[in-house]
Amino acid sequence: MDHTKLIAPCGMDCRLCQAFQGKGLPCQGCGNTSSRKSCQNCSILNCKCKKEFCYECSFYPCSRLKKLDKRYREKYKMSMINNLEFIKKNGLPKFIDLQNQIHQCKSCGKLKTVHQDYCIYCQKKDSNHE
Ligand SMILES: [Zn+2]
Repeated sequence: MDHTKLIAPCGMDCRLCQAFQGKGLPCQGCGNTSSRKSCQNCSILNCKCKKEFCYECSFYPCSRLKKLDKRYREKYKMSMINNLEFIKKNGLPKFIDLQNQIHQCKSCGKLKTVHQDYCIYCQKKDSNHE
């Protein structure tokens, strides 16, 4: 699987999404034409100015991205803008490595979602989300 296609323009790592991991409707990630309505209708994915990543845009960070970023910071303790800044500075492979380190379940080794505070595979909670 091409991991680079699984990072959305907004900086979301689709691998960390509950939809991608098979909770609810299955999703192949934003880069592979998402099958989910909520993702298809995403204002960032449908943005006229859409680039590979939002930081390439002259409006970056726009109000849409800031709104999404705020929602994710408050609800899921992840910042899209921080993700984008990291990618901009360090490149995609390093970002993917970092995400793997941060979000890997310490019990079973699978990737945890950002949407749940427990691992959907082994149901264990650990300190990754503290
Ligand atoms: Zn686990």
